[in-house]
Amino acid sequence: MFHHVKELQFNARVSKPDVRFAKLLLEQFGGPNGELKAAMQYFVQGFGCRKAFPDKYDMLMDIATEEFSHLEIVGATIQMLLTGVNGELKNAADESDLNKMLDGSAAKENYIHDAMINPHFFIVSGGTPTLTDSVGNPWSASYIMGMGDLTADLRLNIGAETSAKMVYENLMKFTDDVYVKESLRFLMTREVAHFQMFQAALDTMQPNFPPGILESDPRFSNKYFKMSKGEDFKGPWNHGATPLMGEEWQTIQDPVQHVRDTNGLLEEKSVGTDRTEESVQKSNKDLSAKRKAKVDKATAPTNGVMSWSVYEDSKKTESQKSQLNQEKSIL
Ligand code: MN
Ligand code: MN
Repeated sequence: MFHHVKELQFNARVSKPDVRFAKLLLEQFGGPNGELKAAMQYFVQGFGCRKAFPDKYDMLMDIATEEFSHLEIVGATIQMLLTGVNGELKNAADESDLNKMLDGSAAKENYIHDAMINPHFFIVSGGTPTLTDSVGNPWSASYIMGMGDLTADLRLNIGAETSAKMVYENLMKFTDDVYVKESLRFLMTREVAHFQMFQAALDTMQPNFPPGILESDPRFSNKYFKMSKGEDFKGPWNHGATPLMGEEWQTIQDPVQHVRDTNGLLEEKSVGTDRTEESVQKSNKDLSAKRKAKVDKATAPTNGVMSWSVYEDSKKTESQKSQLNQEKSIL
């Protein structure tokens, strides 16, 4: 269940209204790398691992709930940056009052300019945050990534935290408000913390590479196809041992000739690896059986009933319950 506390996780402050920065900050409210995306991604991923990986479920739900708390901080900051806009719009009946508050025609020009570049605040939302990105695209569930496989999901989350961190880093360049900067720095820092939580969780799952269950084909896993002409570079991505599987990189110097020589790679040989087709098939079977057994065992119904949660009272046996009832009736 969700239980709302009417205080922010971080005490967001703003020194003065700034409609233009409010618009930029919408990127982290309803944008593709924003807080709602993160919250929903981890929340949705949590369902699949609730039973089989309760420790990872615990972490996903803690982080998802923190992301909702960040969404609240971003929304509150946008609202404070829009101070005055909402009240101003309520001045619909009396045009002369609007002019008075605008303090002359230069201020009015400013106000009109702000409305032109921020139609969502001035025309649509009435001075409140909108669930869009900074140019007005509505938030979309297509931002959410999850594959129902924990090692894959954790990697997707590391990517999500990376881009969220970068958007905050970029946003910080567009405000001089020390209080807004302070909140942005907190939000950016928490994404760095989450990155490490997901990485640490991934490391506890072994084997975790490649993502999923099936191993890669040893004929192609360590081949580097030189697909361009010109200056060539060597690095650990094409030279020496492959970083995660420890195979030896093999460079295909002339891919066109190589493809022709191997009947379109059908006759490709595995080189620079200890893995064989037999070892791969065995490994696939072993890991499949292991993961399936873990999930089946964790999700099997007890007494024919599936129950998502266990409450303290339902742990008591029937005789314990009737004894408690007797005690209550004596009292
Ligand atoms: Mn966040
Ligand atoms: Mn995060």
